[in-house]
Amino acid sequence: MGLLSLGTPLSWEQAAQLAPHVRKHGIEQLLSVWREQGGRSDDPMLWGDEIEYVIVVFDEATKTARLSLRQEKILSVLETCCAQESVDPTERVTFHPEYGRFMIESTPGAPFDSTIAGLLDVERNMQLRRVLIRKNVEETELPMTITSFPRLGVTDAPFTEPAYEANGTASHSLFLPDEVINTHVRFPTLTANIRTRRGSKVAINVPIYKDEKTPSPFIDPTIPWDRDIFPEDPDAKNGAALEDHIYLDAMGFGMGCCCLQVTLQAASIRDACHIYDQLIPITPLLMAVSAASPAYRGYLADVDCRWNIISGAVDDRTAAERGVAPMGQEQLHNSPLTPARRLRKSRYAAVDSYLSSTETAVRNSDQPLEKDEEIEAYLQASGLEPALAAHFAHLFIRDPLVIFSERIEQEDSSSMDHFENIQSTNWQTMRFKPPPHGGHIGWRVEFRPMEVQLTDFENAAFSVFLMLLTRAIKALGTDLYMPITQVDENMARAQKRDAVHSQKFFFRRSWVPSDVQETKEYSVSELFLGTDEFPGFVPLVRRYLDSLDVTAGDRARLDEYIDLIAARASGTLQTAATYIRDYVRAHPAYRKDSVISEEINYDLLRHLDDVERGRVTAPNFLPESYAGHIAT
Ligand code: GLU
Ligand code: MG
Repeated sequence: MGLLSLGTPLSWEQAAQLAPHVRKHGIEQLLSVWREQGGRSDDPMLWGDEIEYVIVVFDEATKTARLSLRQEKILSVLETCCAQESVDPTERVTFHPEYGRFMIESTPGAPFDSTIAGLLDVERNMQLRRVLIRKNVEETELPMTITSFPRLGVTDAPFTEPAYEANGTASHSLFLPDEVINTHVRFPTLTANIRTRRGSKVAINVPIYKDEKTPSPFIDPTIPWDRDIFPEDPDAKNGAALEDHIYLDAMGFGMGCCCLQVTLQAASIRDACHIYDQLIPITPLLMAVSAASPAYRGYLADVDCRWNIISGAVDDRTAAERGVAPMGQEQLHNSPLTPARRLRKSRYAAVDSYLSSTETAVRNSDQPLEKDEEIEAYLQASGLEPALAAHFAHLFIRDPLVIFSERIEQEDSSSMDHFENIQSTNWQTMRFKPPPHGGHIGWRVEFRPMEVQLTDFENAAFSVFLMLLTRAIKALGTDLYMPITQVDENMARAQKRDAVHSQKFFFRRSWVPSDVQETKEYSVSELFLGTDEFPGFVPLVRRYLDSLDVTAGDRARLDEYIDLIAARASGTLQTAATYIRDYVRAHPAYRKDSVISEEINYDLLRHLDDVERGRVTAPNFLPESYAGHIAT
C-alpha cells in the first residue's frame, strides 16, 4: 500500500504546515507527467493482480492459530530467492510489505498481457507466489488469503506470536499493540497522524451478528472499559463503543484486512477514463460476490465485507469535517493552513465522480464534489479535461499524512513523490494512475473493492472475470453509466450479511448507449446471470468469448472461472463469508453467542487450509473441478 520513502517522518503538527507545499508540488508533478505522457496512445492492455496474505502460526499442542509478526524476516528471505530471476517472465513474482506486521503482499513480477493466453497465466503465477511463501516460512507458519483474521485484537488470550501488550503510542488502541504495525516508520507515523489530525482515536462499530444466545443488548465484556493510560481511554465508555456492536479503535483493524486488486493498463488517457467509468457500477457487485470477512475481534459480525471497517479505520476527518461538531476551533487547531470544510467521506471510500467529461458522465456524477477550487481551475487552465481536473482537485482536498523531512524539496519534472503522497492515501474503489516518468508504462486503472479469496483458483477467477468483462464492455461498447449516488447506495448494501441473497442493487436497465438511462433494482443473480431485459455479466462475457477465436481447451479453462463467478452470484455456491459463518455456527464448541473462541478459530483456520489444499472437499463452497487447481 503506497510508496515507502526512507527518512525522518514529521509529526502531524509539522506536516500540517507543509500541506500547501505538498499539494502545490504534487499538482505540478501531475502536470509534468501529463505533459510528457498525456499524448500516448495504443498501449497494450497489460494487467496484473495484487494479493494480500496474513501469516498464521499454528500450535498443534495448544490448538491455537495466531498471527506471526515475522513479516520483515520473511520478506528479506523472499527477496533473495526472487533475485534469481526466472527465465520465463510469466513465472516471475514479487513480494511487498503491507500495513500489518503479519501481512505480505504479492504481485506478478511482470505484467500479463490480456490475450487469452495472458489471462490463463495468472493462476499459475499466483500459485507460485503462495508456494514460494510457504517454502520460506517456518514449519508452523502459513500464508493464508483470508480477508479478516477472526481474532485480531481479542483480549481473552494472545492473538499474535510473540504477544505484546496493547499500550502503543502510535494507535493508543485498547486492543492492538503497535507491534502489529509494519516496522517501517511510515506506518506507525500514518497511524499516529491520522489519530492526531482527527483529534480522537478512530472508532468503528461493526454490527454484531445476533445469534440465539448473544446477549441483548450486547455490551462487550472483553473491552478493557476501565483502562487509564491514554487520554482517550475513557472514550469507549463515553459513547465511542456502541451497544450491539463490535468496537474497533485502530487503523490496524482496517488495514490489517486483505484484498484482491487488479490493475490494468489502458490504451490512452481517454481510454483509461472510459474503463474507469464503466467499471464504477461494477465495484459494489463484485465486492458482494467476493464477500469474505464475517468476523472481527473474536465475534461474528452482521456484515460480510471489510469495506466500511477500513473506511472507518483511516478516517482522519475532524469532528467538524465529519459534520458532528460545528466548524471552528478544532479544525483550526489541527490544520491551520487547510481551509475547514465538511467532507462527506473518509479517505478510504467509494469513488465520487466519473472521469470522462461527456454529457452522460457529468450528469451521472450527481454527488456534490468537495474540491480545491484553485487546483481545479489551475488544472483546467493547464489543459486537463474538466472531469479529470475535478477528480484530482477532489483527491487534493486531503492533507498529506506522512512527510519525510529529507523529501520536502523535490524536482517536479522528475519526482512524483508529493503527488503520490496524496494519491496513494486516497483509497477509493477505483484508482486512476498516471504513468511514471520515462515512458515505459501507460495510464492505468486499478479495481480495488474485491475481498481476497481463500484459493488461487478463486482469486484467478475473479481477476480473469474482471478482465474479460472489461474487454467485453470495450468491444461491445456497452454504456453502464448510472448515478454515483446509487452506486454509493449499492456499496452500502453489498456489505450486508449475505447480500447475494438478501439485497437488491440499482443498475442500468439498458446497456445500449442511446437508450433511456433508467435504473431499476435487481438481485445479484439477475445482474450476473441476466434477465429478459438485459444480458447479465456472465452471458455478456460468454457472448464476447464466442466472438473470438479461442481454442476448445482454453475456452474450457476460462469457463471454469466464469462458472465459479456465476455459481457464487446465483447462490449455488456460498461466498467465503457465508462459508466461514456457517462453519463457526456448526462447530461443536460454539455456544451460539457470536463468540469465536481460540479453539473454534484454530479449527476454522485448519479447516480452511485443508480446503485450500484439497484435503477435504467443501461442496457448498468450491466446485468439484477445484481438485484440478490445487497449488503445489
Ligand atoms: N488492504 C487494503 C484493502 O483490503 C488495501 C491496501 C492497498 O491499497 O494495498 O482494501
Ligand atoms: Mg496492498
